[in-house]
Amino acid sequence: MTTHAVAVYCSARDGLDRAYIDAAREVGRTLAGRGIGIVYGGGGAGLMGEVADAALVAGGEVVGVIPRSMVEQERAHTGLDELIVVETMHERKAIMASRAGAFLALPGGVGTLDEIFEAITWNQLSIHDKPIVFLDLNGFYAPLRAFLEHAHRGGFIPTGTMTRVRFEPTPADALAALGIGRD
Ligand code: AMP
Repeated sequence: MTTHAVAVYCSARDGLDRAYIDAAREVGRTLAGRGIGIVYGGGGAGLMGEVADAALVAGGEVVGVIPRSMVEQERAHTGLDELIVVETMHERKAIMASRAGAFLALPGGVGTLDEIFEAITWNQLSIHDKPIVFLDLNGFYAPLRAFLEHAHRGGFIPTGTMTRVRFEPTPADALAALGIGRD
């Protein structure tokens, strides 16, 4: 094990496809089972809530970081080991990044992309050297991956960044790519 906590970025929206919910639960359960903590956005809904609940049920440690203005809107989780209420999005991202040894993006929208791309750009700038993985369940992130390859071919993204950022099809593969091996 090389990582003590993984930052998990994902959607907090309701009504998502069952496959994404199951994958979020598997991520939470597996991290907990391996003794790896989770730091996430602190929400109780959507994939955020699923990851957190699955990890908590399995005895994992889950820390949420949420801006005060979003506590109601994102239905802040009330059963976490720690809920850090901050004033700004920037504080949230900084705390999540500093507490995590690795970054994992589950399916999500622009908020998820904002957060994982900050991890990518900071890696590219050598601010950190932590693994970064997209859970590419059912090819969810295939169009994004194709765009990154397109930009790489055009000379906009260095090879090192392309190598560093991994796209993995299953929770087990994603966690293995984060350095959290299978049994
Ligand atoms: P989304 O992927 O757009 O559904 O957003 C997922 C979650 O990311 C949201 O529920 C927010 O908690 C968080 N989020 C959205 N925008 C930002 C941002 N600019 N910086 C940090 N977190 C964000």
